[in-house]
Amino acid sequence: MTSDVQGPTWTNWVGNQSFSPSAMIEVTSEAEIAALVARAAAQGMGVRTFGTGHSFTPIIETAGLLLDTQRLRGVIEIDAARQQATALPKTTVGDFGEPLWEAGLALANQGDIDTQAIAGAIATGTHGSGNHLPSFSATLLGARFVDGLGNLVTVSETENADVLPALQTSIGLLGLMTRMTIKVIPAYNLHARTATLPFGEVIERFAEFAANNRSFSFFWMPSDESAALYCLDNGKRDDCAIRFFNAATPDIPRDNLPANERIDRAYRIYPMQYDPNFHEMEYFLPLEAATDILHEMRKLMFRWLPLSVYPLEIRTVAQDNAWMSPNYGRDNLVVSVSGKPSDDYWGYLRACDALFAEFKGRPHWGKLHFMTADRLDRLFPRYEDFLKMRRRFDPKGTFLNAHTRALFE
Ligand SMILES: Cc1cc2nc3c(=O)[nH]c(=O)nc-3n(C[C@H](O)[C@H](O)[C@H](O)COP(=O)(O)OP(=O)(O)OC[C@H]3O[C@@H](n4cnc5c(N)ncnc54)[C@H](O)[C@@H]3O)c2cc1C
Repeated sequence: MTSDVQGPTWTNWVGNQSFSPSAMIEVTSEAEIAALVARAAAQGMGVRTFGTGHSFTPIIETAGLLLDTQRLRGVIEIDAARQQATALPKTTVGDFGEPLWEAGLALANQGDIDTQAIAGAIATGTHGSGNHLPSFSATLLGARFVDGLGNLVTVSETENADVLPALQTSIGLLGLMTRMTIKVIPAYNLHARTATLPFGEVIERFAEFAANNRSFSFFWMPSDESAALYCLDNGKRDDCAIRFFNAATPDIPRDNLPANERIDRAYRIYPMQYDPNFHEMEYFLPLEAATDILHEMRKLMFRWLPLSVYPLEIRTVAQDNAWMSPNYGRDNLVVSVSGKPSDDYWGYLRACDALFAEFKGRPHWGKLHFMTADRLDRLFPRYEDFLKMRRRFDPKGTFLNAHTRALFE
């Protein structure tokens, strides 16, 4: 992500979203944010904020005020007895690692990178993999946020508890979160094992792999060129590069592990490396249909080569109760595809979208999708409740932009 305060022009990490707000302000306190939002709302001006700009969709864009929370970063409270941690919005996922570890705690799961801000990760339902592991949104226990009129709102077990399932995956539409309390778990080491297997074997053993590992995920390669595009070491056409993560038990000898195995603190195991060379779309589909979906995706991607050359990433996520979470009330298979920035990949992504629609696929809020308000109404049972909550906290639509207005007004 780059930003130019003088310009000002804001560009996301991968470079497919760029815009010029009327002003970009580095905020330093809740009181300052509240005053700025109140003034903007009174003037009918839009306000948006960003985490670290790792989303691919135009969810940050505004012609109004862009608030930069980079000075509001850090884990500010750890309650080891209750297994909770409170952090400021720009705290990255990686920032949690050491302070939690020193307190005997850890994040329950992480995604492929750890550079997202916790506010951005929660707002979009960022997830890792694991049949029993929900997304970051589900770990949100409470928060403080500045609503669309500039009021400071507290959400906790005892205050505004009814707001929590809307705030957990809010796409920044209820307000600007200034601190968040999340559920954490006892510290754990992970035993990571990678393997490369042909598609046929992975499909046959999919349910077994997903059920018998804490976290199971893989990249399927439609071509020999695919692996290198995601900085993966191995995998030829029709291979799957698999990652199995399990809690490391003391009986596993740590010395002389084979080259495809590693044991370390969990937060050191999760993150991978990516080059900003892909535009990603990701949908969540019923886990029970996993085998059918994988067969169909393989056929579709072979048909769309070379536009479909990026690996297919497959993960699983446990269901949760957040109203706009793609995992609301449903365990999911998560399917991710990408286009090359220099290609016109839209036909390919639309073909994927059409297939996902057959399986009632729900979108990742930070990744490309083809949703409309009608589709959201059909796909998310609590969509109308979310709209009501959005209007309650942002009656003037201060936090809406063109992209979100079409979906959530
Ligand atoms: C290389 C790469 C790897 C990725 N890996 C994964 C993965 O493994 N799993 C996964 O699920 N996703 C993944 N993503 C997607 C990414 O996690 C999400 O898009 C996430 O939202 C990015 O976090 P961010 O801090 O960059 O948020 P941004 O993209 O900056 O913002 C996302 C949303 O959060 C809102 N927001 C930010 N701060 C606040 C705040 N203080 N209050 C209220 N709303 C706020 C913004 O307004 C916006 O709507 C990946 C993306 C990339 C580029």
